[in-house]
Amino acid sequence: MQVKIGIFFILSFCGFAVYGVQETDSLQLICQKQVIKSVNFEDLQWMFRERVQMENQFEIPIQLDFFIQGPSGLQSKNYSFGAASDDKESLFAYSNMTDDPLLVWGNTLAQEIENFKVLKDSLANVFKPRGFRLKFLASERGLAMQMDLLNRGRSKTALSLHNFNLAVDVGIYRRGRYLRRSNLYARVGGLAKNLGAFWGGDFVGFPDVGHLQAFSNGADLVRKFPELTFEYIRFKPIYEQNYLNALARGQGDLVEDTRQLIKELTKNRVQKVCACSEAITIPVDLPDQWFEQFKGMSTGYVYVDQQARWVYIKTGDSGYFYPLGIYSFAAKN
Ligand SMILES: [Zn+2]
Repeated sequence: MQVKIGIFFILSFCGFAVYGVQETDSLQLICQKQVIKSVNFEDLQWMFRERVQMENQFEIPIQLDFFIQGPSGLQSKNYSFGAASDDKESLFAYSNMTDDPLLVWGNTLAQEIENFKVLKDSLANVFKPRGFRLKFLASERGLAMQMDLLNRGRSKTALSLHNFNLAVDVGIYRRGRYLRRSNLYARVGGLAKNLGAFWGGDFVGFPDVGHLQAFSNGADLVRKFPELTFEYIRFKPIYEQNYLNALARGQGDLVEDTRQLIKELTKNRVQKVCACSEAITIPVDLPDQWFEQFKGMSTGYVYVDQQARWVYIKTGDSGYFYPLGIYSFAAKN
């Protein structure tokens, strides 16, 4: 009997040790149900954002009503777009209430946008080939237009540096006629690179010779401005899908930028509070009139009950309950 118990312990210890060294996947997060020690309104902004898929953009709320039922009672906050505040929580709230990232992040990125403008001016000054003209075409664009380009295969990214006014398309013209192809695009690209920009002609997999941008890729932008993770996160499923599709085709090298971006996003979310993905049934102890407080249109609601360990998230007309959890890296399989 004694011997058996000894063996059992050794086995279970081995089992634990093996589990302990299991490699984790830095590209994949799972929301693990657990007791949440503290939760704040910024966490609620994230939970709301992660529930609202891009396809639902017509459901952008005009107001957010958030509640935290915690150990010290019920706290509530109400957000509406455009209140004069630049703290992260307010920026996240604004981001949840618009589809134009520039309206939210214009101040944060002001210096970068200005630097890029100066760079464009310098470029226009140094690139003056005889008989040709350089024109700056589209620079800023909203999310809806970006989605449209993506769906039509005209762009390869869900969120472009164009959305932050940190990219520009250039056109070369001869006698007023736009040239789709010309060696001059490579020259513009070379000059822009000398000035510190990044040229679309260098893009692996989807070269775009008429495109210039201020950062090498989205991952680079997020590395410098981690708060922009909030803007990118709603597209994470799209990036993940593109990445997996490319891997399945054996073209992993073409989506290195995407891999870097996903890695950056997961790194910034691990250990954070999350709403676990599978909805749960309505908690039994809730009185019928509890739902009365969430009646209204075009408004988003998040209600966390910290002790009961659930969160109610209502976007548009429908609301669901989810278990609260913490993000951790998934195990590599
Ligand atoms: Zn472009």
